[in-house]
Amino acid sequence: MASLPTGSLESLRARNSRLVIDVLRRQGAVSRAEIARQTGLSRSTVSSLVTDLQDTGLVHEREPDASRRGPEGGRPGVLVALDQSAGALVGIDFGHDHVSVAIANLGYEILAERTIEIEVDDAAAESLDAAAALALEELKGAGVEIARVLGAGVGIPGPVDRKTGLVRSQPILPSWVGLDPVAEMQDRLGVRVHIDNDANVGALGECTFGAGQGHRVVAYVRLSAGIGLGMVFDGVPFRGAHGIAGEIGHVLVDPNGPICRCGNRGCLETLVAGPALCELLRRSHGELTVAQLLQRAEENDPGCRRVVQDAGRVIGRALADVCNYLNPDAIVIGGQLATAGELLMEPLTAAIEQFALPAAAEGVSVLPGVLHERAEVLGALALAGANSAEALTVQVNTMSQTRRST
Ligand SMILES: [Zn+2]
Repeated sequence: MASLPTGSLESLRARNSRLVIDVLRRQGAVSRAEIARQTGLSRSTVSSLVTDLQDTGLVHEREPDASRRGPEGGRPGVLVALDQSAGALVGIDFGHDHVSVAIANLGYEILAERTIEIEVDDAAAESLDAAAALALEELKGAGVEIARVLGAGVGIPGPVDRKTGLVRSQPILPSWVGLDPVAEMQDRLGVRVHIDNDANVGALGECTFGAGQGHRVVAYVRLSAGIGLGMVFDGVPFRGAHGIAGEIGHVLVDPNGPICRCGNRGCLETLVAGPALCELLRRSHGELTVAQLLQRAEENDPGCRRVVQDAGRVIGRALADVCNYLNPDAIVIGGQLATAGELLMEPLTAAIEQFALPAAAEGVSVLPGVLHERAEVLGALALAGANSAEALTVQVNTMSQTRRST
């Protein structure tokens, strides 16, 4: 291979290399023809780029799986795949009362995973310190050197302004307001950091590893202390102009309802978020946590069952509007309340069928999440993975240049 001295040719090649790496990262083993089809590059360009990648040792050939047929039913060609140990990914999920960390290789094989309890909302600096320490400890435990980490994905339980990167919501994360969590985590970890809110990383988690797999337009609703909506279109989260898209917890449901922490009245969250459900039972059942409420519902306590069923109906009514706006092919129900199972899902699905436009309701699968409390940390890994092609491309090009100059 001749050396490519000019900057623009070099950058064109790097850009094409990134496209190829991205297909390999997303699909595992894939034929050169399929890479060409997906990237729009010519077969000869793809072959040349793959040869380069093979020379660096990051990509190797794999015999086709005999059980898999080519697109026309014929025998599939030789497949190429990324060396999954070529890099590592870190996922970090900040909940209101915990931090979870997961470490994986490029094939999303989990190498380490751990959760610690910590008060996150009022102790930003301490939480960031604890998360970084936990990540470094788990990397060490898994035998992964920090130099091999291609990036970290971070989910936080509040809105992040996409333009400034700052946390914006005073009522949700008081001690985090004005903080730049990306810069803070990059300082602590020394790797590239990508951030999103908990509903978006949860959505990515379910789309990559869980109930949303195989669906193109996915709405993931996270029912916990707050209520958020993550929208993933063709594998990419939709964040809106400023990163505030999906704040379904603050749509108006009852104009005369209780005052919300956002300052409005009768938001969805004031009626069906965890604390609101416990509040409904205070007079009859005394102080309950959401976990206790769900436990009693499972044990057939009529009041607790009623609270969950009514919540399902109200949430379904709001999701019917989501069906009309977005026409998703899947709605995935996650978060703590989703562990109520059919008791929640049945009235929720019925309300969607009743209130959405029939064509929108018929085309949507309403699915319980399958990752439960791991959805966000696994989604944070997927966020790191989705952004890893760039880091890998830099690595490949550095290796190629070193080879060419020797
Ligand atoms: Zn509100």
